[in-house]
Amino acid sequence: MRTESKGIVMFQKDYRERDKLVKIFTESAGKLMFLVRNVTRANSPLKAYITPFTVGTFIGDFRENGLSYLYDVKSVAPLYNLQQDIFKNAYGTYMVNLLDAALEDRQYDPKLFAFLLAGLKALDEGVDSEIVSMIFELHLLPYFGTQFNWRDCCVCHTTHGPFDFSSAYGGLLCQKHWPLDPHRYHADPKAVELTRRLAAVDYAHLGKISVKPATKRLLRHLLDEIDDEFIGLHLKSKKFIDQMSRWEDVLKKPSDENPS
Ligand SMILES: [Zn+2]
Repeated sequence: MRTESKGIVMFQKDYRERDKLVKIFTESAGKLMFLVRNVTRANSPLKAYITPFTVGTFIGDFRENGLSYLYDVKSVAPLYNLQQDIFKNAYGTYMVNLLDAALEDRQYDPKLFAFLLAGLKALDEGVDSEIVSMIFELHLLPYFGTQFNWRDCCVCHTTHGPFDFSSAYGGLLCQKHWPLDPHRYHADPKAVELTRRLAAVDYAHLGKISVKPATKRLLRHLLDEIDDEFIGLHLKSKKFIDQMSRWEDVLKKPSDENPS
């Protein structure tokens, strides 16, 4: 049956000589794996539209089982910066890989579709990539079965920090209640406070957020600890980002040492 839906191309892989498999997050039917036939031919009309981070209306046979079939695409709006900039592309790839792990194929979730689209557009428009991807990570935690209280202290519900993160309590602990959990994360309060803010924000209200690199590193460390304890994914795209931030450090070093 011929169906159409707005969608985002997540990734593609080779499949047989002339065909490709393309994973598309559709608004109306969740993630689907499409078989696109003869797409490696030079004159294939679909070739340009199955590049990752292409947004459009995808027309095809959306199957309940097995592979779906892609016939046509219209209203195409590629996120060009995301497709061409290696750094932005790395963060976008990480976000779609995370989504692929968090959500079953064919699970209808138009809210998450809208959230991913807003996040990818923010990356495309040049909003801080680390912040955009960390907001996405926080937003996806419940999909991995981990719902944390990032709003207030889990014990007394004060909203006044400093806070620490406690896995035993499933969220924040205010300083007064730190003694209740000797295994709390002993995280930097600045990172916890930033997490608190980012967990409550959506991309439309992000504005021109500016966070110091040192604070971002603390936040990255906190989220890595949470990932290790609760999720345990080892995505190649995440490893790539971690390596990339080390190159950035190396590239920046000479100017940092300049006495000015
Ligand atoms: Zn408390």
